Amino acid sequence: MTKDAAMPETKPRKVPERMCVGCRAMKPKKELIRVVAPAEGPVSVDRTGRMQGRGAYLCPDRKCLEQALKGKRLDKALKKALDPAAAATLAQMLEVPDARTG
Ligand SMILES: [Zn+2]
Repeated sequence: MTKDAAMPETKPRKVPERMCVGCRAMKPKKELIRVVAPAEGPVSVDRTGRMQGRGAYLCPDRKCLEQALKGKRLDKALKKALDPAAAATLAQMLEVPDARTG
């Protein structure tokens, strides 16, 4: 009697993924920047991942930000119009040189 039915391999642990509102690629949450629209106050970048509010995710890539802004995708995702100041702040944060870029 054979009883060697293929057992499913244990699945690799799932990494929580989110979609970039710019390029719409699914990426691990850790690799994305979370942008939050709090109930009050301006849209800001959530570096801790704990800010309250509606969030959207973006690759740390200027192109993605541009795309997200161009199509008003960020506005839609946040259900809030992004004011130019917030957009500028975001752009600045994405400009921060990262030595690990490769
Ligand atoms: Zn992206």
